[in-house]
Amino acid sequence: MSEILRITDLAVSYGHIEAVKGIDLALNQGEITALVGANGAGKSTSLLAISGLLKPVRGQVMLDGEDISKLPPHRIVQKGVVQVAEGRAILTTLSVRENLDLGAYVRSDKAQVERDLEWVFTLFPVLKNRAAGFAGNLSGGEQQMLAIGRALMAKPRVLLLDEPSMGLAPLMVQEIFRVLTEINRTGLTILLVEQNVRQALRIAQRGYVLENGKIVLADTGANLLGNPKVVEAYLGG
Ligand code: ATP
Repeated sequence: MSEILRITDLAVSYGHIEAVKGIDLALNQGEITALVGANGAGKSTSLLAISGLLKPVRGQVMLDGEDISKLPPHRIVQKGVVQVAEGRAILTTLSVRENLDLGAYVRSDKAQVERDLEWVFTLFPVLKNRAAGFAGNLSGGEQQMLAIGRALMAKPRVLLLDEPSMGLAPLMVQEIFRVLTEINRTGLTILLVEQNVRQALRIAQRGYVLENGKIVLADTGANLLGNPKVVEAYLGG
């Protein structure tokens, strides 16, 4: 199993508060890796540091052996590490189609962009049906689909997601997890931050548990699901 991304001793602070305290984490090519933990454990902060939106105080983020931790966010996107926009920050006054086109703005391979658009429409048929409508008229779950679709249009090699199921109705949560599995089957590497620990570990080959800015457990998704500490702390006993 080859590694695509490796994080070493990553530490991120807000002023004097160290939110992420030197974590090590590796993503295997083609796998879903789940990063789970309670509110405030440092999950979002870790993702923002990988995307370059927060600069780490120390540590490395190696993509295929190259340290990307000092690059600006747009260069990190160009290298293929793409975070699904937080809080579904889609542009509500643009159409669904325009939002998807924006995801591909850094790309010059126009023929492939067209094929990727068709793929996104296959994954999320509702986006095709609503392509000409305002993104702001989509439901919360549909907006989350659009946010994922827009990230896919950037042709990621590693897709980062921060709680894609947050605030969604149970059926929509199922749909999002189903699509993530389908996206992963095409070979795309995914780092998934979730508070929905059970669902995340079910679809993830590997998982890491973050507590107070430190990794306290790392194992396969299946082993973590059966780990008594995980069961007690995150799966309701
Ligand atoms: P959540 O699921 O609640 O987002 P999380 O695991 O993603 O939790 P982070 O959002 O990364 O956790 O927060 C980690 C720590 O950093 C928390 O103690 C939080 O209060 C603190 N923190 C987060 N953002 C800021 C900020 N902008 N300024 C100061 N402290 C922050």
